[in-house]
Amino acid sequence: MGNGTILVIEDNALNMKLVRSLLRIGKYDIIEAKDAEKGIQLVREHRPDLILMDIQLPGMDGLNATRLIKDDPSLKDIKIIALTSYAMDGDETKALKAGCDGYIVKPIDTKNFLNTIEHFLNGEQKIQPPIR
Ligand code: MN
Repeated sequence: MGNGTILVIEDNALNMKLVRSLLRIGKYDIIEAKDAEKGIQLVREHRPDLILMDIQLPGMDGLNATRLIKDDPSLKDIKIIALTSYAMDGDETKALKAGCDGYIVKPIDTKNFLNTIEHFLNGEQKIQPPIR
């Protein structure tokens, strides 16, 4: 038994690898998808406790995927944390507007990552302030 199930929707293999190793340290059960379509299918099948949602994805982007999940009454309580890119100015605002419960800026701050996840899971923290 882990600390909860987290679905990671991320198309970049290196980012996925990093997130996977961090979540393993945190003893979370991890489900992975490389695109939003597969991600949404896994949300319905597994009902994870939290979703880490990349914004830039092939096909449907993370914003539309978030809207779809949050529009579904049976899924809307699942927390969605956007993985926004430091380079993409305005992504954080767009993510929150789309219905994300918070965001984590990439490149990921590995020291604070697990604390941030725990805070979001416990509902203690709505938004991680961007470190700029
Ligand atoms: Mn991406």
